[in-house]
Amino acid sequence: MKTTGDILSKMKFREPETLPETDFDCPKHGRYAGHPIKYFRSFGNDDERCVENPKCPKCVEEEAARRERAEAEEKKREEIKRFIGMGIDEKYWKETLGTFNAYTPELKKHLETARKFSESPEDKKLVMLGENGNGKTHLAIGALKMIGGLICTAYEIGLMLRESYYGKINQYEFLQNLCETPLLVIDEVEKASETQAKQNWLSHVIGKRYNKMLPAIFIANCHSQVDCSHYKAEKKPCSRCVEYHLENDVLSRIVENGQVMKFTGEDYRCKIRAARGKNCE
Ligand SMILES: [Zn+2]
Ligand SMILES: [Zn+2]
Repeated sequence: MKTTGDILSKMKFREPETLPETDFDCPKHGRYAGHPIKYFRSFGNDDERCVENPKCPKCVEEEAARRERAEAEEKKREEIKRFIGMGIDEKYWKETLGTFNAYTPELKKHLETARKFSESPEDKKLVMLGENGNGKTHLAIGALKMIGGLICTAYEIGLMLRESYYGKINQYEFLQNLCETPLLVIDEVEKASETQAKQNWLSHVIGKRYNKMLPAIFIANCHSQVDCSHYKAEKKPCSRCVEYHLENDVLSRIVENGQVMKFTGEDYRCKIRAARGKNCE
């Protein structure tokens, strides 16, 4: 006759037991050795034991590598989704401030400015001036990836606002996003045409961001008249001089209040392509 004590002692937890080393066969990797583990259930006796055989170490390794790859791919997909949401074009998906090739003293100085800006952007405004292909967008996107926010051209914003007249997007929400995004980068700001300036969106956005102490970067594919040979000869700004576009008061306000970075060097993209062994187009 069993006593209560007998039953209770069988219900006690028993530590799993490591059994002697045995050989196993993996259909994929062949023979391997390992210790099976014997577990005990809390109710019951040895008949109900379960033995768990060790897994093939190569299979375990492969599974871990596969999971790691899948996680890395998932992370990359998430990142690309984030970049697309920020308005970053595919050619800049891999670029950061760290991948910027500052091969002249001027570019070194600009990289340093972009770094400092990214570390404490509050309330700051950068104005990047220079002809196309001088690395301005690369630096702006480097900062954007660190701070978060949005990049778009002045033309695109004008286009979106026009869409909103037809009710395709909500104009209030769209403008609100431009006013509140952590960092707003406006590319080709010189193309904010007079009609767009009349719509006043640029001055609205700049004013709101200023009140919220939020940073912005303005990129203009122009030079300053002090660096212009046409200006030196004719005493008149050419159409690539930022001063030529300054009749647009919004643009003049941006340039006056921001930290101006002048990119006067040779074509950055051309240089990078050459360094990567490709020809300039
Ligand atoms: Zn295996
Ligand atoms: Zn000029």
